[in-house]
Amino acid sequence: MAALSMLVAGLASGSVEVVDLTAPLSSDTPLLELPEQFGQTARFELELISRYDDAGPAWYWNNFRTGEHTGTHFDAPIHWITGQDGEDVASVPPSNLVGPAAVLDFSAEAGENPDFLVEIDHIKAWEKQHVPLPDRGWLLVRTGWDARAHSQEEFLNADENGPHTPGLSAECAQWVAQESPVIGMGVETVGSDAGAAATFDPMFPCHSFMHGAGKYGLTQLRNLDRLPPTGAVLIASPLRIVNGSGSPARVLALVER
Ligand code: MN
Repeated sequence: MAALSMLVAGLASGSVEVVDLTAPLSSDTPLLELPEQFGQTARFELELISRYDDAGPAWYWNNFRTGEHTGTHFDAPIHWITGQDGEDVASVPPSNLVGPAAVLDFSAEAGENPDFLVEIDHIKAWEKQHVPLPDRGWLLVRTGWDARAHSQEEFLNADENGPHTPGLSAECAQWVAQESPVIGMGVETVGSDAGAAATFDPMFPCHSFMHGAGKYGLTQLRNLDRLPPTGAVLIASPLRIVNGSGSPARVLALVER
């Protein structure tokens, strides 16, 4: 049977499940907060146009306002200065929006230490146990952080020293960007970098190295616990915003049951 016919049959029989990795997008969606000297991204807000009323007797619709980097979203290379000559979100080839996913589970480590950092050796150990990271695929980092998404405070987990959330070390980010075959990395936290990454060298190394290498980021994913370590296919669908640095995205995974 042809591949797409097999996929359609699998969807119909339930042997292929579609898992939604997207957080609901509303004015309650947790939001990145930068130090106050910097510009801030906007909350998601709906503005009613009409709802079966005088402004539209048979139809309901809204305008919305949002930051590009609000909620489950896609980071394009142009988001960072290192990728400023790279793709905007409208220029990302569609073939790069569908690919195999490797899911690495660090929820135990991040549960013990919110500042936990993934190192190159963690990834190499995972590769030894499973398979090499997938060519043109996605590295998905599970930390259990999606369980905190109901609360801005718990999600950012900040104190007087700044936010405490897990991520990659600078060395690991450079390795994923420059040595590994994946084209993107996805996380459950508010951004692709660790909470303390403003103090790393370089600052925000995931953004710096990944976008400098023309690679992508996905943030605020959920339901990664429903994916196998290997074998899932990720589908990311950011809006095709011309000159956009990123976009809220619906992110799905196809999983064989
Ligand atoms: Mn972002």
